[in-house]
Amino acid sequence: MAEHGHETVVYCSDAEVGLRGIIAIHDTTLGPALGGLRMRAFASEEEAVLDALRLAEGMTLKSSAAGIDLGGGKAVLFGDPDRDKSERLFERMGEFIDQLGGRYITAEDVGTSVEDIEVVGRKTKWVTGVSLERGSSGDPSPFTAFGVYQAMRASCAHVFGSDDLSERSVVVQGVGHVGRHLVERLVKAGASVAVSDIRRSVLDEVCETFEVKAVAPETALFQDVDIVAPCALGAVLNDQTIPQLRCRVVCGAANNQLKEEHHGEVLAERGIFYAPDFVNNAGGIINIFVELEPAGYSPERATDYVSRIYQRTKQVIDYAEREGICTHRAAVLMAWKRIEEARHR
Ligand code: NAD
Repeated sequence: MAEHGHETVVYCSDAEVGLRGIIAIHDTTLGPALGGLRMRAFASEEEAVLDALRLAEGMTLKSSAAGIDLGGGKAVLFGDPDRDKSERLFERMGEFIDQLGGRYITAEDVGTSVEDIEVVGRKTKWVTGVSLERGSSGDPSPFTAFGVYQAMRASCAHVFGSDDLSERSVVVQGVGHVGRHLVERLVKAGASVAVSDIRRSVLDEVCETFEVKAVAPETALFQDVDIVAPCALGAVLNDQTIPQLRCRVVCGAANNQLKEEHHGEVLAERGIFYAPDFVNNAGGIINIFVELEPAGYSPERATDYVSRIYQRTKQVIDYAEREGICTHRAAVLMAWKRIEEARHR
């Protein structure tokens, strides 16, 4: 398979407004590069560049795996989100994004808010995922959670011979935006649910609202349950945690759950089914894609597209079995294959 380098990387700088940032466009074969604008106090410029490059490539894979016609991109701003934000900063970033003429489309991400992206939008039309009132698709989290739920059902059909979640026990690690919506769906489906979060108030609220039990953050992943759903942090599946897992399925929303690629194989060797994160959690990007379609945003169409994550998960399982590879590798290969085919059409 051909190597896929980044198409365009732009360094953005304006000392007057204190702006330093990167826009990375990884691949636009399938469509414009879509990915959020992240703001973080990076330790070095090198770290910021690497983050932008890695995240942009991740977006290419995610959109391709989701079957939508978007490429992968990401933008990062160097700075502390609590201290360094200003309207001029985001307007200026909007000007940089605008210069790319729609090859990169931005959205909210870690360290930026919908309000910040609306300020970016004063200078460019290439913004998405802003408020519903502006005809946009709004908060993606319920759609992300719905996608994870579909992937979980397909995973259970494969592992337990039934996609009925009322027979299953699940631990949800992290009950923030996505985790909370996922808990709601699981409880409605009749699953036996336990939750964990490092924020006590958030945890208490979820336990009370949905009548689920809490488990300590240190032990959440290692519960004796059918399914573990990581919905907090990346890299939670690693050399330290995998030997301690007691579940049959890992299926959650968190990005980059595998610390390293080979951990997908380590899980398979342990007989634990891993539903690839970027397939499960594509509901948010699918929701934004619907906003960009000529017909404009419709939550019904978004729900319909996101429900297809069930089928996609099954396709990944079939491909992995046919090729004798782990599910993560299968999902990566399938995503690249779609891009290669589009490139040679
Ligand atoms: P969030 O910040 O709203 O929620 C994360 C929650 O995890 C928080 O409540 C936090 O307190 C908790 N947490 C942090 N460390 C923890 C730990 N060690 N143990 C237990 N809980 C812990 O984020 P979110 O928007 O719900 O996203 C969750 C994950 O899903 C992230 O990895 C994100 O990148 C990914 N994701 C989110 C979306 C989306 O639509 N929001 C889309 C794709 C992927």
